[in-house]
Amino acid sequence: MIKLNWKSFTLRLRHVFRISRGARDNCPLVLTALSFGGYTGYGEASMPPLYGESEQSARSFLESVDLSGFETPLETSSILQYVDDLAPGNPAVKASLDIALHDLIGKMLGIPLYQYFGLPARRLPTAMTISLDEPEEMARKAEGYTDFSFLKIKLGTERDREIILAIRGVTGKPLFVDANQGWTEREAALDFICWLAEQGVVFVEQPLPKDKREDQAWLVARSPLPLIGDESVQRLSDIREASSLFHGINIKLMKSTGLREAFRMATTARALGMKLMLGCMSETSCAITAAAHLGALADWIDLDGHLDAANDPFRGVRLEEGHLVHTGLPGLGIEPLPENPLVNVA
Ligand code: MG
Repeated sequence: MIKLNWKSFTLRLRHVFRISRGARDNCPLVLTALSFGGYTGYGEASMPPLYGESEQSARSFLESVDLSGFETPLETSSILQYVDDLAPGNPAVKASLDIALHDLIGKMLGIPLYQYFGLPARRLPTAMTISLDEPEEMARKAEGYTDFSFLKIKLGTERDREIILAIRGVTGKPLFVDANQGWTEREAALDFICWLAEQGVVFVEQPLPKDKREDQAWLVARSPLPLIGDESVQRLSDIREASSLFHGINIKLMKSTGLREAFRMATTARALGMKLMLGCMSETSCAITAAAHLGALADWIDLDGHLDAANDPFRGVRLEEGHLVHTGLPGLGIEPLPENPLVNVA
């Protein structure tokens, strides 16, 4: 019998995280555990307020889960289909079950999850994100992140040019830009992207609001930089439309409902010739490590959500000179720390 446990957990952030659509200094999580045959797998739902899920919605979803009809966790596809069919939406809490289930089967099979997905254990150069602030403050942070190969800059303000110039005053590193839907006029967006192309920017994430499809199609036909869909692309079924609006997509486990669908999204986007980015929310080392197992599929890695956590309840991928490095242990290869609320219940 597969046993499910969960606990609420508030992830505290070291710095206020500010983007063009809001700010916060903590993030509600629900941590899950699935146990079977002496093994326990861990998962996590991260629910930034902007995305519509809450601790309450996650808890009531988990209360509706009944795994007694499944003989073994190795019926992975059937279990995850059952979970997905329980209710529409709820991608983060669904991801928490998907991640825990994959951790569990990886442990049962005795292999790390990258091997389960047929991938190598690559060292992943992750970007470090600099959230919105005064340009001087953003430049000060950029200067401090010497270990990272890429910096991701949040934009979508009146002062975007000033921010880039301030950062360019302290570092020549390649930059990822994320406008978080913050630009509203397509002509102005194109002008600015042409300027960014001369500033060592690699790509631009979600320049326009997601409902501005026509403007986005206009922009993608003209942009000198790759445009990557994030808010516009949640699950596998969104990729067909996204392939005409963007050059690539940002896959996040908390949007995709977990690893299984993220893997299918990655292979589908690849088949369509699209670029791939792996991203995250504010998360613990549990969900970050989970996403990192798919790292070999991606062109660009933005898995830094755990680096700003003040109370990460797991140890997982290590950070070595700006690269994420797998532990090589079975499943996710993570360990709950003593203060993890699941330690005594799983
Ligand atoms: Mg984004």
